[in-house]
Amino acid sequence: METVRDDVVLSLVRGNITLEKTDAIVNAANSRLAGGGGVDGAIHRAGGSGIMEACRRIGGCPTGSAVITTAGNLSTRYVIHAVGPVYRDGRHGEDRLLAEAYRTSLELAIKTGLKSIAFPSISTGAYGYPIDKAAEVALETVTAFIKANKGLSLVRFVLFSDNDLVVYEKALRKL
Ligand code: ADP
Repeated sequence: METVRDDVVLSLVRGNITLEKTDAIVNAANSRLAGGGGVDGAIHRAGGSGIMEACRRIGGCPTGSAVITTAGNLSTRYVIHAVGPVYRDGRHGEDRLLAEAYRTSLELAIKTGLKSIAFPSISTGAYGYPIDKAAEVALETVTAFIKANKGLSLVRFVLFSDNDLVVYEKALRKL
């Protein structure tokens, strides 16, 4: 599914984010930037050790924020490591922290002069965020950001399953 909002192409696809050729891809990282399973493991495996070396130099990143590194051997130019919240019960600032993880990533992309960025569904794997709620937060945050900030031409969500894609498509139609 693809739509244009405020001159920015907003695209939802099913796929493997490590194959994306956007200027940056976003990693669903942990606050120690230590690597892990899920999309984080896939990005480090595909990109090689240069990404972890850069993460070690940075040292860490608070929940709700993001840092940018080389993309090693990947087809993209940069990896933006965004730290989403672990979902507890929805009453521990999870929505705000998830929105901030997306917003900081978009700000980093613009500051770096990038035109295109691809996100995974942050926090909805090991971190347990209900995907329907996470999709609303993700898409509301991105659409508000592109309304208020110029510079990007493409924002893509790369969803890992057919079901995740359907959930994001429904959330986008409601906006
Ligand atoms: P978190 O710890 O933030 O929940 P996970 O990596 O466990 O991060 O999961 C986030 C989302 O990324 C999940 O929906 C998972 O299915 C998805 N995912 C895992 N591998 C990939 C990949 N290669 N490309 C895109 N999405 C992926």
